[in-house]
Amino acid sequence: MKDKGRQTKGDSVRQKDQEAKLAATYAIRDGDVLIVVDVQNDFCPGGALAVPRGDEIVPVVNRLAENFRNVVLTQDWHPVGHLSFASAHAGRSPYDTIAMPYGPQVLWPDHCVQNTAGAAFHSDLQIPHAGLILRKGLDRTIDSYSALYENDRTTATGLTGYLRERGITRIFLAGLALDFCVRYSAEDAVREGFAVVVIEDACHGIDVQGSIAATRSSLAALRVAAIGAAEIAVTRAA
Ligand SMILES: [Zn+2]
Repeated sequence: MKDKGRQTKGDSVRQKDQEAKLAATYAIRDGDVLIVVDVQNDFCPGGALAVPRGDEIVPVVNRLAENFRNVVLTQDWHPVGHLSFASAHAGRSPYDTIAMPYGPQVLWPDHCVQNTAGAAFHSDLQIPHAGLILRKGLDRTIDSYSALYENDRTTATGLTGYLRERGITRIFLAGLALDFCVRYSAEDAVREGFAVVVIEDACHGIDVQGSIAATRSSLAALRVAAIGAAEIAVTRAA
């Protein structure tokens, strides 16, 4: 009975250690930001470039955002005839890859054209306290997956400066699509010296030519934490 009692106590201590570890890692602080990437109609079912089940993340993202004082929303926001559209290249089809001056570019169906319904946020996305809406992909000649840099990875969107001036040191990422705009944002954020956490069940991928697997290995190599939304909620409740 004695041994059993000790064992139970040990389990309890280990459980507390585990809770403390989670709390230390994912307790949300003022220096954290949640970046919600491209939760727009065109990336949801029924949209021009739908991410399968993309709309399922919306309630998860809404709940997550309640934990963060700092929230940034990004919006893919292209002019008509953007060069990431297959329709802008004679003889090309969506999902072809072409060489652009800044590197390979996947061609997409026309999507998120400025001021269209497709470019609007999903109507169930409710984050009234978001402090910044960052639009990207405005230059017709270059795509911008990442929230921090255009696809040449040298032209800044200005988000890094905004975050630094506000004392942000850690970035949590959610949104669409995991294997393009979330991935590029995570990679650039690591490069800029931020701690980066991807909330996996608050993201969905589109998976072009193995892009989800490539994303997972890239983010693992960069030591980007991949967590579930519940790990943040549990921490706050503890
Ligand atoms: Zn786009």
